[in-house]
Amino acid sequence: MRRERDAERFARLRARMVETQLRQRGVADALVLAAMAEVPRERFVDEFLLELAYTDGALGIGGGQTISQPYMVARMSESLELGAWIAAHPEGPPRVLDIGTGSGYQAAVLARMGASVISVERDPELAAEAKARLEELGYWDIRVEVGDGSAGLPAFAPYAGILVAAAAPEPPEPLIAELADGARLVVPVGRRDLQELTVVHRVGKRLETERLEPCVFVPLVGRFGFPQ
Ligand code: SAH
Repeated sequence: MRRERDAERFARLRARMVETQLRQRGVADALVLAAMAEVPRERFVDEFLLELAYTDGALGIGGGQTISQPYMVARMSESLELGAWIAAHPEGPPRVLDIGTGSGYQAAVLARMGASVISVERDPELAAEAKARLEELGYWDIRVEVGDGSAGLPAFAPYAGILVAAAAPEPPEPLIAELADGARLVVPVGRRDLQELTVVHRVGKRLETERLEPCVFVPLVGRFGFPQ
């Protein structure tokens, strides 16, 4: 297949993406930079978009859904602050909930960062494609569940981090409830057409909310998201 034959060329594009789109824009988290230098983004896009895999934007993945811009994947991943979590909890890999599997790219980046990833996707077709793709690439241990991620996933809670790659009107309550002490929820919050990247940090019984930067995501459709 073309994308395999071109692996070396894509590796060069990937290294340049990490340098110009991430590092030069202030992404400094070593775990994130190393993971995104490894995960072959070209394997997560459709064949006809192959040449655009490392461009500085989101790309369509079918069904009106998108694979997020590399910079946004990096910002969200570093906002989880998994390095600090791992240092404080060396006993095992941090369990991270990834809502909106889409292509599976974000889930693969989190797994590369050392997380034990559970990813939830509402579209069964996208979920099946992502699961197959992740297995093909060797990510056997990423769990992909079909369901409404806005309502959380209590079966594996609490989580060391929760990342939502779709826009919500408010940080979904069930997700806040599933944060472990010290964990962070990263979610775009706002209107359907414009949001702010938002971090909710649980510190004991307290919640600290921080707004980072404007962003545009497809809507989180579900009970604690937007109506269909
Ligand atoms: N993280 C993905 C991009 C996500 S795009 C990647 O790396 O490719 C947003 C995804 O969220 C879409 O696939 C959409 O179907 C899904 N989604 C929307 N609402 C959802 C919900 N309530 N629960 C789970 N997934 C949802």
